[in-house]
Amino acid sequence: MSYPNITTPAPSASELARRADNDTRRRIHQRATALQLNVLDAYEHILAMIAQEQQTSALSVADTRRQYANMLHAAEVCEKAFCRRTRSCQGEPADCLRVLLPAIGLDKAVARLVERRKRSQRKRIVAE
Ligand SMILES: [Zn+2]
Repeated sequence: MSYPNITTPAPSASELARRADNDTRRRIHQRATALQLNVLDAYEHILAMIAQEQQTSALSVADTRRQYANMLHAAEVCEKAFCRRTRSCQGEPADCLRVLLPAIGLDKAVARLVERRKRSQRKRIVAE
């Protein structure tokens, strides 16, 4: 018994190019997402260490994160229109930081936070 001779037509050059393009885009998207998550993880870790040092702070972890997100002006580039409009984090701070952190890099983010904290501490001393 023989099978009917069925041949699948070879994909055209443009079809192959389209598939390769989709594949590349998918891979770039995956890597960008992985990078964002890595940076967020590292940032979370640093925030946890800073929060541990500030044992006097009565703010919840989420409030602390939101405070840091606002100190970095992360809301201005947030995907949520409400955050951008009000220029302050209105939801989950991680969402606000997801765009900003990979864009400016972890080093700069931490440097800015440290700088802002120094400045606010200086003000507090002057006020007292
Ligand atoms: Zn936001």
